[in-house]
Amino acid sequence: MNEQIFDVVIVGGGLSGLSTAHFLKKQAPGKNILILEKDSRVGGAIRSMNEQGFLAEWGPHGFLDNVAESRELLSDLAVTDSIQQAPLKQFVRYICLGGKLVQLPQTPPAIIKSNIIPFTSKLRVLADLIRKPKQEEQTVADWATHRFGKAVLPIVDIVFTGTYAGNIDTLSIDAAMPGLRRLEKEYGSVLKGAIKTQRQKKNTSGLPSMVSFKNGMEHLITMMSESANIRMNSPVESITKQADYWTIQTGQSEIKSKQLVLSTHINQALALLGGLAKPPRKSVNEAVVYNVVFGFDSEVKIPFGFGYLAPKSEKRFALGTLFSIHMFPGRAPEGMNIVEVLVGGARNPEFLSLGDDDLMRRALNDIGALIELKNPPVFKKIIKPKVGIPQLELGHLQFLEYRDKLQNQYRGLSINGFGWEGIGMNEMIKQAKETANNLISDSNTPKSPAQAKGIYF
Ligand SMILES: Cc1cc2nc3c(=O)[nH]c(=O)nc-3n(C[C@H](O)[C@H](O)[C@H](O)COP(=O)(O)OP(=O)(O)OC[C@H]3O[C@@H](n4cnc5c(N)ncnc54)[C@H](O)[C@@H]3O)c2cc1C
Repeated sequence: MNEQIFDVVIVGGGLSGLSTAHFLKKQAPGKNILILEKDSRVGGAIRSMNEQGFLAEWGPHGFLDNVAESRELLSDLAVTDSIQQAPLKQFVRYICLGGKLVQLPQTPPAIIKSNIIPFTSKLRVLADLIRKPKQEEQTVADWATHRFGKAVLPIVDIVFTGTYAGNIDTLSIDAAMPGLRRLEKEYGSVLKGAIKTQRQKKNTSGLPSMVSFKNGMEHLITMMSESANIRMNSPVESITKQADYWTIQTGQSEIKSKQLVLSTHINQALALLGGLAKPPRKSVNEAVVYNVVFGFDSEVKIPFGFGYLAPKSEKRFALGTLFSIHMFPGRAPEGMNIVEVLVGGARNPEFLSLGDDDLMRRALNDIGALIELKNPPVFKKIIKPKVGIPQLELGHLQFLEYRDKLQNQYRGLSINGFGWEGIGMNEMIKQAKETANNLISDSNTPKSPAQAKGIYF
């Protein structure tokens, strides 16, 4: 009997694997593609919870609709009817400062103008215009201090708390925001670069929207998995390269493929790639975030907006809270409210080992000091993801060199997924499209230089 050889095997049925398969199938419908997923469900970090009419998320709550590849994916999946959009120009975010919620202006220039940055520190922020860029890889905190002074650190902190649940003293600005670093080095100043590139972009359409779905983020996964060829409960244990195909060993079987894509969390990919070449380190650090979900009656006074984030300097229990009921209405039964309190992260991993009662009590006390709750919650639940957000810390660029070297050395090998170049959904979808293009041309086309992304609050 002739053994089947797949054109492409993709390891991982999360957003990266499914969107790689989607873009590949769209351009090359004849290709024989198989996705191998270790779990009994697809979606990886993306998972929605719906209990007693309260809808909450295990992982991402949404993504901004300002990236072409993500818009293309949404349009291909024809999900218009199920989309929920929260436009940034209507929804504000808050920062917790001095134990109070302060509304944040939505763009960095507006923050500089506002009184969140003390008057005496504004001149120091403008010194960015004349300070020479440091060439070496730096932590986010060192970089921000060098460019703008210490007064901006609480704001920078919440940007990286809201995305990485991370620590700005260890995250690498070069790995986490390569586009911003490129802008700084090219123009000699972040502000000069931002002003010049903004002028070049004639068609900027203002502030983007946060996108989710009426049934939660998992809807995106359901839509993509419907047309994909997925083998569940298939943990890949090893990969080896023969002359012109790959052998992929799962618990139950041996599968052969001409091309192989690793679309997993970086740590899961490193475990497999270790058989081909030793990685710079065994793994990257992860920040696990628990989501403490509270439902309240109609008496609660939740300020209008996305929610708030608290910088480390505030020493609070929660990293921040999402005002889900405003952001995406319909996530609680009629007349009820829902908020999602985020706990742990790189800042306070010790809170994750508290008992459930303790954890809920402390989360409730924390938000109760900021929001008028009136009555006890009518619903409570702790969502506990096992896998954390990869931390792109100082030294991370070595992982990218390692990945590039392997992709060049082993023809037919592509590597994308959570935590190589960024952690956001837009980045995953963008890289998935790039991978699909490379698979079709059977080449590793050099990447275009990283673009600075907009920072919005
Ligand atoms: C708590 C949290 C909050 C987040 N919030 C946001 C947000 O608000 N906005 C945003 O844009 N992004 C957010 N993200 C990031 C977003 O979830 C990721 O960008 C995205 O889900 C990563 O998808 P992925 O497919 O690359 O990786 P994963 O989701 O990790 O999927 C990888 C898949 O590979 C499978 N797998 C692993 N190893 C193997 C193996 N050996 N064999 C077979 N299968 C394997 C896994 O089971 C998994 O299904 C958040 C992430 C977390 C954890």
